[in-house]
Amino acid sequence: GGFGWSAVEGEGCTVFTQSGDTVRGSILLTYASVHVYGKKFHETERDDDHIEVRLDARTTSEEETRALGIEVGDFVAFDPRLEITNGFVRTRHLDDKACVANLVSAIKTLADAGRKPAQTTTFHISNYEEVGHGAAAGLPDDITELVSVDMAAVGEGQTSDEFHATLCIKDSGGPYHHGLSNKLRRLAEKYGIPYKVDIYPYYGSDGEAYWRAGGNVAVALIGPGVDASHNYERTHLEALEATTQWVAAYLLDAR
Ligand SMILES: [Zn+2]
Repeated sequence: GGFGWSAVEGEGCTVFTQSGDTVRGSILLTYASVHVYGKKFHETERDDDHIEVRLDARTTSEEETRALGIEVGDFVAFDPRLEITNGFVRTRHLDDKACVANLVSAIKTLADAGRKPAQTTTFHISNYEEVGHGAAAGLPDDITELVSVDMAAVGEGQTSDEFHATLCIKDSGGPYHHGLSNKLRRLAEKYGIPYKVDIYPYYGSDGEAYWRAGGNVAVALIGPGVDASHNYERTHLEALEATTQWVAAYLLDAR
């Protein structure tokens, strides 16, 4: 995971304090005003030393800021700024909430149709995906396959786009399972699910956390195409629908 400061510069945010209070603010360059700092605004590197949270609270010192209940280690949440236009879903944190939506939609679709997964299935939704130990624990010992659902990254040199689901063949952790990947391809072909196949050099998934923790079953990875990952992200309903269909097809597959 991780993000560049320029990806959140200018964004509104909420600081969650130890006392349970929240303090609103915004993330800005220390030389934020072009009228005051001129060239410095353009030339300053966006790094830890030059980005700050401007709190919407009256404070002029460390003591006053601590008196607000703010401490080292407090969580700072960036505003998602959701907007849906022409089928495009533009917001932060699509990675990996889009895929949670895919799983929930697939489950609801099956339930509404009175169907059940063909195999005993565990849905594992991890809060720690970006930290790296997402699916390292919490899965039952008797699973035989793991399909990780995570966003597909869109950009120059990638096949992924915002209108398809994507099968990730390989990422920074190495190749995913060939047989399980091929099974997912066959399902996509069989049901006419719009999909792409891609490789990501700077990317990892919960599936990797699982196999690094000693998991010993086939792991594959699918997900919707998301533009500007870990930035102000965007996908399209077509990619979300395709991924949901793919998850549902996998769940109903008896083989
Ligand atoms: Zn991510």
